[in-house]
Formats: sequence, structure tokens, C-alpha cells
Amino acid sequence: MQYDIIVVGGGIVGLATALQIQKQRPESTILLLEKESELARHQTGNNSGVIHSGLYYKPGSLKAANCITGYHMLLDFCKENDIPYDLCGKIVVATDEAEKPLLQNLFVRGEQNGLKNLKKLTKEELKDYEPHVNGIEGIFVPQTGIVDYKKVADKYGELIQKKGGEIKLNEKVIDIKAESDSSTVITEKNEYTGRIIINCAGLYSDKIARLTVKNLTIKIIPFRGEYFKLKKEKEYLVKNLIYPVPDPNFPFLGVHFTRMVKGGVEAGPNAVLAFKREGYKKSQINLAELGETLAWPGFQKVAVKYWKTGFGEMYRSFSKAAFTKALQKLIPEIQEEDLVEGGAGVRAQACDRDGGLVDDFLILEEKQVINICNAPSPAATSSLAIGETVARLALKKL
Ligand SMILES: Cc1cc2nc3c(=O)[nH]c(=O)nc-3n(C[C@H](O)[C@H](O)[C@H](O)COP(=O)(O)OP(=O)(O)OC[C@H]3O[C@@H](n4cnc5c(N)ncnc54)[C@H](O)[C@@H]3O)c2cc1C
Repeated sequence: MQYDIIVVGGGIVGLATALQIQKQRPESTILLLEKESELARHQTGNNSGVIHSGLYYKPGSLKAANCITGYHMLLDFCKENDIPYDLCGKIVVATDEAEKPLLQNLFVRGEQNGLKNLKKLTKEELKDYEPHVNGIEGIFVPQTGIVDYKKVADKYGELIQKKGGEIKLNEKVIDIKAESDSSTVITEKNEYTGRIIINCAGLYSDKIARLTVKNLTIKIIPFRGEYFKLKKEKEYLVKNLIYPVPDPNFPFLGVHFTRMVKGGVEAGPNAVLAFKREGYKKSQINLAELGETLAWPGFQKVAVKYWKTGFGEMYRSFSKAAFTKALQKLIPEIQEEDLVEGGAGVRAQACDRDGGLVDDFLILEEKQVINICNAPSPAATSSLAIGETVARLALKKL
């Protein structure tokens, strides 16, 4: 059988794309291939579970546009499908004078992105939201919320199948033979043909893209984000979400406190180079993958540019005391013994040859193949909007 569309990757982006194709053209035949034995095992199943509001992103960028549209689509989806979420709001906290202008920039950016009712907070007002926080100024962002993205992704999968789409698990794609009218996707066990192929392989999206794109100018660099959990008896220290002011030169938001929708409070994630693309533990190393990362000219430039930040993150990864110290900037009462090890996630961050960490979502089209080559945070929040865009691109090619 020849499918109209084959999607590679059963994370939230691949699933949302398949769902949106079905919405836009219900009669299309769709196959989604996932290498694991369940959906959403990687980035989607190991993230912070935050519904981002669109505060941080450059106005006019794909991230800004898709975050805000995707935010509303996600909330509607959760309501329609009884998926619990909580729009609890978050505070962003400046802890020293140098962060004040950065916080102000963030406030302006949020307003440019159309966020309503952002509120500037004084030192005293911060305590009304989070009594244990230490800060000199802050912003309250009422739109931010929490959800379980694994639940959302599983529901996307259920609906795709209900509408006649096929999802095949344990199907690792190893090659694609792209032709002008029909392409063959080869997995370790089978071959499938499809008119349009969409690559949503997350941490391996560059590898899948390289199967059909000759001179791909980006490589995925895996950055592990490690979490601690607050012990039950210390959860009272955090009411909702507490974020630091992010370093504008770095694509990650800094370790923060997140109340999870399924209960508990997490602290993290940091950002350390993972020695394996799906390496969730420090001890996991894949020499071939690590070698490729180190040999990538762009990574070498990143290492030179961010060596200080990188070493700091690495140090905090090995030293719980140092991790605790970073958290104490936000909540001084937190002690090392209040934290127990949590999980970890690995971010797929595209890096170009010149050492640029690609900030925006990146969609590359090559004949009948569409490659989603950079879908970092807030891609879980934005999944339905990204999916809608990719569906439109794909259906134009059919
Ligand atoms: C630590 C962390 C915290 C984050 N926090 C947030 C947050 O709070 N809010 C937010 O909006 N976003 C957050 N994000 C970002 C968000 O999780 C990702 O942007 C999103 O999950 C990306 O989805 P994806 O489908 O592209 O990737 P993935 O979820 O990684 O899915 C890719 C899928 O492709 C499969 N695959 C790979 N290679 C192959 C192959 N050869 N054959 C078949 N299948 C293959 C993989 O097994 C995987 O299931 C966070 C990410 C991380 C890592």
C-alpha cells in the first residue's frame, strides 16, 4: 500500500502533525513510525510540563507566533478531551541589580507578543505570590500553566488511530529513498512507501534529514536537563512556578521550580552536554555520537563561546551542593537535604556550522520530504500550531 503521508517520530510534534493533516484532509492515508515501544518516550515524556505563554520569544519569530496560537489550541484540546491542566501563572524573579534591565526587556517583549495583564512586582509583592522567594523585583505572568504532555501526546495518538491513521511502534527508520512522486521509508524490519515524508525525529531529526538532504548545515547537539524533586514535606516552599531571569545569550531558561500537574515540585533542569543523544544518565556514553558532536565545527565554536557557562552547568551536575546554591538564589531556605534526585530530559538543540544555537523552529523542505530540524521548547506548548503549519506544507505537495 502507498500512504499519502508517512510521519517519522511519535513525539508530540509528529503526532500533532498527523492529527492536523487528518483535520485538514480527512481522507488522506497516514502512517506514523516510532522506534520505541510507546509514544512520547523522549523529549515529550521528559519535559517540565509547562504551558508557555509566549513571554520570551522574539516578536515575529515562528516560536512567538506558534506559541501563542498553539497555547490556545492546546487549552481547547485539553478541555475537549478532559486532560487536566492548571493555569496557575508564574513569576520571573530578578535576584540582583544586573538582572533588572533584563527583566524589564522581558516585560516589554511579553507585551509586544500580546500578553495581557502582565504585572510588575516589587520585592514585597513577590511574597504575595511566593512567600518563600527571594527577589528584588519580578513579573507575574498569569497565562502560564502546567499539563502532562505525555497524556496529551497519547491522546493525539488515540485520535489519529480512531480517525483511521496507522501508528506502528518498534519501527526504527534507517533509510529513506526519496523520489519525486513516491518515497520509500526503510525501517529495520519493513519498507513503506509514501508520497510525502515528514521527519519529526527530535534528537535524531538531523540524521533522518541527512538521508535526503545533501548539505545539511545543522547538527543536533543533545543537552541533558537534570531535575531534583522537593521532598514532600518541603513542597510548601513553592506554590506554583518560579523562574529566574534567563541569560539572553543562552537558549535555556535557567533552573526553575515547577509544580507538576500530577503532584510534586521539580527543580531544574540544568543544561549539560549529553554524551549520548538519548543519554539520561551521566554514565551513558555513546562514543560515536560524542565524537560526531565534538567534531562538528559549530559545536567547537559553541564550546569556546560558552565554556564558562558550560563548566558551571557541568559542575552543578556533579555537585548537589552547587545545584542547591543555584536554587537558593530563588529560595534561600532550600537545603541540600530537601532535594531528592528527579528524572532528566535531553533537549534536541540544532547548532549550525558557525556556532549558532538555532533559536527558532526550523522546517526544511526538500522535494517530497519535510524535515522539522529544530523543535525545542516551547514546541510541546505549540505542537498543534506547528502541526497545522506542517500539515499545510505537506498537503500543498500532495
Ligand atoms: C528537559 C526539557 C524540558 C522541557 N520543558 C518544556 C516545557 O515545559 N514546555 C514546552 O512547551 N516544551 C518543553 N520542552 C520542549 C519539548 O519537550 C520539545 O520541544 C518537544 O517535546 C519536541 O517534540 P518532538 O516530537 O519534536 O520530539 P520527541 O518528543 O523527542 O519525539 C521524537 C520521536 O522520534 C522518535 N525517533 C527518533 N529517531 C527515530 C527513527 N529513526 N525512527 C523512528 N522514530 C524515531 C523518537 O523515539 C521520539 O519518540 C522541554 C524539553 C526538555 C528536554
